[in-house]
Amino acid sequence: MNAEERSRLLHEVELSGNCSHPIRLRGEMVNLTTGEVGLSSLRVACKDRRQVICPACSYAYRADAWILVASGLNGGKGTPEAVGSHPRLFVTLTAPSFGAVHTVRARGGCVTLRATDHGTSPMCRHGSRRTCAERHSTNDPRLGRPICDECFDVEGAVLWNAHASRLWSRTVIHARRSLAEVGGVAQSQLGSVAQLHYLKVAEIQRRGLIHLHCVLRADGPEETGADPPPWLTSEALALVVQASARHVSTRGLDGRPLRWGQVVDVQDLGSSLANVTKVSSYVAKYATKTTDGSKELARRFHSRRQIENLVDDPHYRRLALAAWDLGGRPEYGPLRLREHAHAFGFTGQLITKSRSYSTTFAALRCARANFMAQRRSADPVEGTFLYDGRGYDDPRATELAELFFTMQRELREEALAARLAHGSAL
Ligand SMILES: [Zn+2]
Ligand SMILES: [Zn+2]
Ligand SMILES: [Zn+2]
Repeated sequence: MNAEERSRLLHEVELSGNCSHPIRLRGEMVNLTTGEVGLSSLRVACKDRRQVICPACSYAYRADAWILVASGLNGGKGTPEAVGSHPRLFVTLTAPSFGAVHTVRARGGCVTLRATDHGTSPMCRHGSRRTCAERHSTNDPRLGRPICDECFDVEGAVLWNAHASRLWSRTVIHARRSLAEVGGVAQSQLGSVAQLHYLKVAEIQRRGLIHLHCVLRADGPEETGADPPPWLTSEALALVVQASARHVSTRGLDGRPLRWGQVVDVQDLGSSLANVTKVSSYVAKYATKTTDGSKELARRFHSRRQIENLVDDPHYRRLALAAWDLGGRPEYGPLRLREHAHAFGFTGQLITKSRSYSTTFAALRCARANFMAQRRSADPVEGTFLYDGRGYDDPRATELAELFFTMQRELREEALAARLAHGSAL
């Protein structure tokens, strides 16, 4: 590569914000200062949230997700700071069991027979042991995998995942209804005494089932900054949320009732700033993950054979195939399971929030784009562009983008660590 080529490549990568697979746009551009009109091609960052697809865009997304959560918990970016003193909870909702899986327990073996199972055979009808006495380490690849593949209800798991978002909506509706009841007003009048806002992120657990992590905040009437009524404490909100999670159910298309699992974890965030930082980082991390952190399960599948060939993990292959096969049955058409086979049937958005929880991804992106445009300080231009493909013309640019991004991130993290070590404020 000669010097000219090298500098062109560096420039392209820089303009795309170190994006690995930028989107190419082609169109007409008018320089608003000189009035010059020219045909132009332009690359813009792909904005893919997934770390395995684009490290640079995913890093920006993760930072935005962090701000989204933190500003909803402590105020900022348009959300009043008063929210920091409102009841705020971090809630984790899990899926029920669809078959025993290998797990780490504080005490005792991995899977033991329940009291009600005594007297039954230690082997399942497929000839596998029904128990596992091992104490697995936390990085054991068998964790989350079924004790017996045949006994694990993959179809049930996929159908549950497909309804997780609906179950969540029902839980929020139920919690709002309960709050109205406690406040002594009709459900439709809840807004006159209090409001309930949330942000949730979905995580796919190792066993292939959806887990929801939610940040919930109660505000007073009408305005986000208004204090909630005295009866609406963190404890009262926690009780309402727990009761709602236990109570709600939705009916699957096959008529089976679907509910949350036994484990409903509710943490009061109290007034600790450390809790806010921890929860924001936690949610931001999940927002950039794919189903299992691999490229294979990052995108939609186009055929059954593709799943068979690409997915190495036998449990994940069975789940993806179950989603594909169920998706081919007319009665499950509305669930669009084939489109979501890579997420084992989960059809929802990974990260969602109620309107008034905090700022939006769009507002944060717009702020960043304006900042970048100012830094470049080029003449203002305007134009209409059409999609013209993806990626760089020179495949070496992708490697370069990832290298630049890694270097920049490392430098930034070193600088941050140095500042923290010297005790200066962030
Ligand atoms: Zn990108
Ligand atoms: Zn085990
Ligand atoms: Zn079995």
